[in-house]
Amino acid sequence: MTDRTLNGAIDDAMNTDALGEAEKLVSALEGRDVSYKDGGNLGKLVTGIGFRNMQILSQRKKELAQLSNDTVLCNKLDRYLEIVADLGFKKVLEIEVPEMREDRGDRFFVFVTDDGLILRFDTYNGTSVNASEVYFNYASNDPEARYPSINGGGGGMSAVNIETLEVRKNFAYVGKYSVRKSDEPLVEVDEWRDYVNSDQWTVQYGSVDGREFLRRNVNGLREGRLLSKWAVKPFLWLLHYADTNCPTCFDSDSRCFCEPQFKYDHDAITAARIEAADPALREILENVL
Ligand SMILES: [Zn+2]
Repeated sequence: MTDRTLNGAIDDAMNTDALGEAEKLVSALEGRDVSYKDGGNLGKLVTGIGFRNMQILSQRKKELAQLSNDTVLCNKLDRYLEIVADLGFKKVLEIEVPEMREDRGDRFFVFVTDDGLILRFDTYNGTSVNASEVYFNYASNDPEARYPSINGGGGGMSAVNIETLEVRKNFAYVGKYSVRKSDEPLVEVDEWRDYVNSDQWTVQYGSVDGREFLRRNVNGLREGRLLSKWAVKPFLWLLHYADTNCPTCFDSDSRCFCEPQFKYDHDAITAARIEAADPALREILENVL
């Protein structure tokens, strides 16, 4: 498969709505709109076909990721670390995750790149990647390319002077082509274009899941101009699973039934992690801390 065909196949897989396809199929058979919400036998049929579509789609994504030497949904730690290094990530923090029920030998990692990406993840059973997230400040002065080519993700948008890193306007990200001022109703993209002068840069600040298609997502982010010193701080989660789970009630759906109830201090843990990490992490964050 050529790279062009492979990329097209990945685009197709990413844009496939497994449940939507099931609804289309059953609607075509019935000659009227059928939804999985309808209940009854037709609703069940849509749900069943949709579930099967999802299984096929996730298998297809896994195969396409492997064909393009990319990460998959459930990654072995060794292979993941190889791809992470290949993308220019450098480790700035590695700590042990404290034992909960039993010692699984889990670790928590933070990596950064010279162009200002921050990757955080913890391990599962010591040998697989658990929760993983990549954080970024993506700048663009191209109205057609203000949102990076990544699969999903969330965050916000600001108008920024990228020489001084002065933030002029904050927007909340609503969808690929719709944004709104953080305290005002939705505006559509044409209004947004008028709102931000054409000589200004917009910065998308946010994060994307770091498990599946990490290489593809990082390459998509690098199509824009990444800020090696951030102008805006996205919601940054530098905690691992043991930070947020009660040591006594662990394994019970993260809920705590103790008296008093287990609480964690997000800000204090975050500050301690930044303090413990290589200074390269603080260099990215110093403008927004
Ligand atoms: Zn508890």
